[in-house]
Amino acid sequence: MKKISIVIPAYNEEGNVAMIHQKIKEVFDGLSSYDFEIIFVNDGSRDNTQQKLEELSNQYEEVKFIEFSRNFGHQPAVKAGMDNAQGNAVISMDGDLQHPPELIPEMIKKWEEGYDVVFTFRTYPKEISFFKRKTSDLFYKLLSSLSDVNLTKGGGSDFRLLDARAVDVMRNFNEDDLFLRGLTSWMGFKQIGIDFTAAERLSGKSSYNLKKMFTFAFTGITAFSVKPLYLAAYLGFLFSALSVVGYGTYVIHSFIAKTEISGWASLIMTIVFFGGLQLIILGIMGIYLGKIFKQVKERPNYIIKNKKF
Ligand code: UDP
Ligand code: MG
Repeated sequence: MKKISIVIPAYNEEGNVAMIHQKIKEVFDGLSSYDFEIIFVNDGSRDNTQQKLEELSNQYEEVKFIEFSRNFGHQPAVKAGMDNAQGNAVISMDGDLQHPPELIPEMIKKWEEGYDVVFTFRTYPKEISFFKRKTSDLFYKLLSSLSDVNLTKGGGSDFRLLDARAVDVMRNFNEDDLFLRGLTSWMGFKQIGIDFTAAERLSGKSSYNLKKMFTFAFTGITAFSVKPLYLAAYLGFLFSALSVVGYGTYVIHSFIAKTEISGWASLIMTIVFFGGLQLIILGIMGIYLGKIFKQVKERPNYIIKNKKF
């Protein structure tokens, strides 16, 4: 019998874990030809998530858990689940029921048709705020243009199925800055996308704020591409060329008009502008340098305190 592993990162999801287990169980009741396991990864929750997971795993043998020593973040949590999954295919999904378990049979069907990666696009329900919708759209646009991986609009969410082969590849990545949707797209294999409408969170609140979104965006770009470094160099060339043209015009003008062009305001503006530009470029280089610094230390992506399998 083929086995499907479901990986669910959980950070402060005490109100959701029992329900999501229930829903997934119902789905697999209708898929009797498959065995399944649910691996919850408790990413350093501050509420009673751990206690709920222990209760669930005592009650149901398909429920397993991994408990982190502290909060490591969503991406490391998904990675940990995949590192420990035993199924022929692994599905990762959020713990707040925003990723509908009802889509699982369709994902499995595509997998059986021979696809190694079944990813999902999120289409927005009406309730999602205009702000979040726009920032999210902007994020993927920026990402795709600055990054070397093709990340289609709607993003490819973190709700996806990977064949055991692809999971094996994933296990061997030891990047410090994990960006799983980029890695999935980058590694190839036979891929297909299906779309779904994201529901509202069942309970609790989203832990993604604006700051986290920016960090996420920067990770998505810098983990896959050195284009920003090229951009910095191009800007340097552009402004050098402009200054040569500007200087030439100035010299010719002073010969013809026989006067000096005065103006400290334009001088200050130029200094401020180039000062800013240099800081930005230094910052871009700094980001990459920081990534190298973090990577050479080869610290693990996560630390497991306790697990039950
Ligand atoms: N999550 C996690 N660690 C974190 C933040 C979030 O494991 O530090 C989990 C969370 O429990 C959920 C998923 O990642 O299962 C997505 O998080 P959230 O719902 O807060 O994000 P959103 O849906 O708003 O993008
Ligand atoms: Mg959510």
